Amino acid sequence: MRFPLAPTAKIVRHIVTNKLKGNRKFAMVLQLEPLHTCNLTCTGCGRIREYSTSMKDMVPLEQCLAAADECDAPMISVCGGEPLIYPKIEELVAGLHEQGRMVYICTNGVFMRRKMREYMAACYTPAMEEALRQLVSEELVNEKEATTIRLSDAIARQKIVIKPSKWHYWNVHVDGLEFTHDLIVEREGVFKECILAIKMAKILGYQVATNTTVYRETDVQELEDMFKFLSSLGVDGHTISPGYDYDAAKKDMVKRLGKDPADFFITRDMTRAKFKDIQRWGDMFTIFGTPGYLEFLAGKRELACSAWAVPTYNVRGWKAPCYVMTEAHHPTYQDMLSKVNWDKFGVDAKGCGRDSRCENCMMHSGFEPSAALSNSPRDSWVNFKYNFGSRPPPYPASAELTRTAYNGDTIGKGHLAEAKAAVSREFSGSKSAFARNGNAIPHATGHDHPSETETSGGGCSTGPANDQLADLKAKIAAAKMTEIQPK
Ligand code: SF4
Repeated sequence: MRFPLAPTAKIVRHIVTNKLKGNRKFAMVLQLEPLHTCNLTCTGCGRIREYSTSMKDMVPLEQCLAAADECDAPMISVCGGEPLIYPKIEELVAGLHEQGRMVYICTNGVFMRRKMREYMAACYTPAMEEALRQLVSEELVNEKEATTIRLSDAIARQKIVIKPSKWHYWNVHVDGLEFTHDLIVEREGVFKECILAIKMAKILGYQVATNTTVYRETDVQELEDMFKFLSSLGVDGHTISPGYDYDAAKKDMVKRLGKDPADFFITRDMTRAKFKDIQRWGDMFTIFGTPGYLEFLAGKRELACSAWAVPTYNVRGWKAPCYVMTEAHHPTYQDMLSKVNWDKFGVDAKGCGRDSRCENCMMHSGFEPSAALSNSPRDSWVNFKYNFGSRPPPYPASAELTRTAYNGDTIGKGHLAEAKAAVSREFSGSKSAFARNGNAIPHATGHDHPSETETSGGGCSTGPANDQLADLKAKIAAAKMTEIQPK
């Protein structure tokens, strides 16, 4: 099975019960944002911009649990911000488990190893020694940390911790291989840390998923290589969703990076081109989701938006109408359900946006539930077969695959290293330092590059290098790294 049996049974029961009760709109996944504080500033993240005035606010623990209880979604995606910064994250996870819910912690991975060491210190017994020795030998835990775990004191032992469970997934944000991922999260070394955390989690018996956002510049072959690599590490499943030009992120792209948002986010046609292989990936890798949504992404069918099924709750309340668009925050889920005119949003039968802001959206939080909740017998059967069928085997690990994955910071080609090299080279017009596997990174400037093949290969002599250079200089400025600004 792609997903553990008990949580799957709970989700099926939830759908059937609501349908039998005649509920037309109900929550499937709660996107719970207990805070928006984050240790990273990912390109394309709307949260750190839209909620910039409430970055330090947090939803009290009891309020988080009450929100989950009220909407009664069987799955809770604890996101943010970086949820591992939330001071009561362990209590939150424990409380959600007590309510019988599946919990995903959507994390950038940077604090995961610390949380897992805390788990080991709290629960250490000699039976854990074999795993601990493996962690040390693979340099996932150092000797000093291992000693601290073995000699854990009463305080460490009393701490509530996040333990491995079939009701829990670490859901690690990975947007590409090392070079791309570090570029998107705007910090070198993050990819490497994510991978260390994933390896440690698998040794300790946690379930691990990854989530990936696909942008205009995302290279499809790189995505496949990323899935191969993650699968070879024993990752249990992957979610993948197209990026989208919602207002907060759009404003930031324009202001901070001086970029036209249309050059960064992805349109519906582009999404379909990027996701044309998604069904094949669904056979090769444990892609989470419904086959209907994968068909939708590949352009083989239309779906309506069901944003009400994946509500977002944060410091301001229930965010309506959806994860990316904000018209209001409501005090309760029921208030949001009853007051939002849902017919105003989403797309019509031809896939045209009812609201212009919905025009290019194909996000999983809007459309995935439509496929999962479909009444069509064909959809029900295909969903059943996909999720209850056997899980694709892990992709074979190899030195070549590892070399492909570590294509940035590890080989001295991190994005800041590239920036330094390119800045010192100035606008030479020669082959750019911003190249991936010898090809300039695909992008758009004054040209329209509708397909992947047309955007790779470095055909534009003046565009790609200069635009990538401008982006990186802006990022460097944002990071206050004035010492590597051009003279
Ligand atoms: S289509 Fe749905 S999920 Fe997408 S922006 Fe519109 S309301 Fe939000």
